[in-house]
Amino acid sequence: MAFADGTSLVPSFGSSLGAAMSTKLGAARRAPEACPALVLNADFRPLSYYPLSLWSWQDAIKAVFLERVNIVSNYETSVRSPSFSMALPSVVSLKSYVKPPQYPAFTRFNLFLWDRFSCQYCGDQLDLTFDHVVPRSKGGMTTWRNVVAACSPCNLRKANHMPDKIGMVPMQKPYQPTMHELHRNGRYFPPNYLHDSWMDYLYWDSALEP
Ligand SMILES: [Zn+2]
Repeated sequence: MAFADGTSLVPSFGSSLGAAMSTKLGAARRAPEACPALVLNADFRPLSYYPLSLWSWQDAIKAVFLERVNIVSNYETSVRSPSFSMALPSVVSLKSYVKPPQYPAFTRFNLFLWDRFSCQYCGDQLDLTFDHVVPRSKGGMTTWRNVVAACSPCNLRKANHMPDKIGMVPMQKPYQPTMHELHRNGRYFPPNYLHDSWMDYLYWDSALEP
């Protein structure tokens, strides 16, 4: 990356150093590309859970230089220019609070998460798709209040029938969850990659619940 003043930062182990060096570094030191920064709001909660608010190392460092964020925690991996070196931030927090949306976006992932990646008719977790509870052909809308996760066989079986006509009623009534309600499900389905330094910020609020 390059800054307006001509300063450029290069990873402290670049391609010129070869693969041997990066393998020697082991798991603790990662390539910069594998060092996303978790972005926290000014209240130290993640700016977003779904998707998890992550910035590339370049964006994180740019925000540090623009004084938009504070560094909360670092990776062991550094980047350097001829004049200085800097550890890559693993967690940054915004200096100004951004009001989070009250309701999560109606997305494929969020709907599956809300339904816990389970068919709402039989509980199966394989071959998931969506089902319009009131079929589209009968005026059913594509919204939180009318769409549920369903396995393909159940989706095919229900077809264009009304739920009571065919005796297929979703286990959980379709509903638009609040962000807080969706977060409760999130801890059961953590993202694939979670850096140790992120843990304190991801699930502390849900841990306080009974
Ligand atoms: Zn099913």
